[in-house]
Formats: sequence, structure tokens, C-alpha cells
Amino acid sequence: MSDQYREAVESGVPDPFQYMHPVMRRNYGQWDWHERCRPGVLHHRSVNGDSIWTVRAGTQRQMDTGTIRKLCAIADEYGESHVRFTIRSNIEFMVSDEARVVPLIDKLNDEGFPVGGTGNSVSMISHTQGFLHCDIPATDASGVVKALMDELYEEFVNERMPNRVHISTSCCQINCGGQADIAINIQHTKPPMINHDLVANICERPSVVARCPVAAIRPAIVNGKPSLEVDERKCICCGACYPPCPPMQINDPVNSKLAIWIGGKNSNARSKPSFMKLVAAGLPNKPPRWPEVSALVKKILKCYQEDARDWERVGEWVERIGWPRFFEKTGLPFTRFHVDNWKGAKYTLNHSTHIRF
Ligand code: SF4
Ligand code: SF4
Repeated sequence: MSDQYREAVESGVPDPFQYMHPVMRRNYGQWDWHERCRPGVLHHRSVNGDSIWTVRAGTQRQMDTGTIRKLCAIADEYGESHVRFTIRSNIEFMVSDEARVVPLIDKLNDEGFPVGGTGNSVSMISHTQGFLHCDIPATDASGVVKALMDELYEEFVNERMPNRVHISTSCCQINCGGQADIAINIQHTKPPMINHDLVANICERPSVVARCPVAAIRPAIVNGKPSLEVDERKCICCGACYPPCPPMQINDPVNSKLAIWIGGKNSNARSKPSFMKLVAAGLPNKPPRWPEVSALVKKILKCYQEDARDWERVGEWVERIGWPRFFEKTGLPFTRFHVDNWKGAKYTLNHSTHIRF
């Protein structure tokens, strides 16, 4: 082997132990039991007799350095200088002294950070990156989160849902996002508009053609230049052609709508993991507060809260009462958009929520 050979430097996830609270490091793998003392506070006890309290708070999501410094100063003064962010972007402060818990909560509340998000509450909404980091979003997913969490504040600081509620938002139809009890996703309703002057210079045409899931894109010569054309009868408005070819603009202030899907979950507790199903489509993508979306999510949550049995997740509740009852209870219209009528789905139609044969 040549002297020039060097091992590749892997730059994956950093070693988490260096950042852990010493009590957590010392008791790794030794935790015996835990309890939720009050909404937003977890108490873990190890077999060695050590205890640690975790105080969970919500933030406004996209944080400036001033806010992060403020949170770190709170951790230094009221906590024990150890914090972490959860996958749903809550911030958690870990303390080994129970006497610190109440002053820490009071300080967080004074500074405008609600404490909650544990147990059967509506925890922070997970969202995709949107305008801050991505080049294709059709909405500001984090803005939807802020608007919604302002409305759902009481459900974050209390644990009064039948089970935990995970909400997510997603700013395009094709990439990030995942299964959630309630998901708010972009839904394009018109095929892309092609700027033929730019396609030849910017797009690698074969990759764009290959990208379309329904083979609706063909190479074409337009105004004497190589370009692309879309068969609009086939196009399902997914937006997959837009990232590799920005001149195929699909984002539109009017025709890019929001849709609500419900009933997904990753956990396999009590019932197996499940996919979300569409319940509302064509909602206006209206910043800065997205009022129609907030109203509808609140309505679904209220029905779930009143009607579900203890420990039923949203999807389990709907499966028990049946989808017709769900639409009756929520007053949501059942429209043609709920029917998976894409002809390529003939093998999957039986997987649709609404049609069985
Ligand atoms: S969901 Fe789509 S638009 Fe939003 S950050 Fe992910 S890839 Fe970008
Ligand atoms: S939006 Fe989707 S279906 Fe329509 S042309 Fe682009 S990739 Fe194909």
C-alpha cells in the first residue's frame, strides 16, 4: 500500500457522550424507571440511585443567535449547563437537583418559552426546512408551525389528549416529511410552467425526463432550442421535475395549496405503524397565519379529544369509528380529491382509505 494512502475521514454524527450531562453519562444503560411529574417534566431514576429531571420547552422554531444565547444563559443560571434538542425541536434542560426544576420552569415561562410537550399533549410540530435551507419550497413550513403552535398553546402545556399527537408540516410533495397523526403538506394543483429559453442552459434533460413518475415529460424543440414538454393529461402535479430543472416552475401563489392528511404513525405500540390518509385538500396557502389550516386542524383535534378512547392515536380512533363517521363528526366534505383515481394506482387502489372492492 502506498505511503500516500490515507483513511477517509468520516464526518458523521459527533460522539454524543462528550455533550451529555454527567449523570446521564454515568448511568448510560442503567435507567430503571421514569415518571412524568407534570406536563413538560420527566424524572428518570437509575438502578444506581441517581436521578435526573428533564424540563422540556417549546421555542419559536427558527431561532436567531440572540434567542439561542438567551436559552444557553438560562441553562447556565437555572439549569446545569446541559441542553439538547429533541427530534421535534423542543429544547430540553437536564438537572440532577430537583430544587432547580420550579425556578427553571418559572424563568422559561417569564421569557416566553412554554413548558410542556410531554405525554398526551400536542408536542412541537416537526417541519421541513422551507425557505431557510431549501431551493424548492412552496410554503414556509416553519411559519405554519409557529402559527399553529400559537393556536395550540394550551394543548402543548397540558396533557389532555387521548394519546400523544404528532403533527408535521411539509413544504413540497416529494421529499422530506414523514408519517404523523396530522400532517399539513403542500399540494400542487397545476402542471409546471416551462421557461423554454432557460431549459437548454440549465437542465440536464434526460435526468428530468427520467425523474417523472408517470412519464409525462418528453424532450422537445421549442423556438429552435432544445427544451422539454409536459403531457398535461398525464401529469399528477407532483413537482418532482422542478428540483432538477428550475425552469419547470411549479410553485404558484394560488395553485399551490395545502392539504391535510391524518392517521400516520411510526410507533408499533398497540397497533402497527400506519400511513396517513388525505382528509382535506385545496386549502389556501396563506401566510403569515394560515387561518383556514389552523381552524381545520383545531376542529380535527377537538373531535379526536372528545371522541377517542384513552390511548387511541388519531389513526386508531378513525379506524374504530370508520371513515364515514370521521367525515360526519368533523363536518369535512368528502370530495373527488379523496379518491385515488390515478390509473397507475390500479394495483394499489385497494390500499385507499375510502374505496374497497
Ligand atoms: S419538503 Fe421539499 S421543499 Fe421542503 S425542505 Fe424538504 S425538499 Fe425542500
Ligand atoms: S409535476 Fe410530476 S408528474 Fe408532472 S411533469 Fe413534473 S414530474 Fe411529471
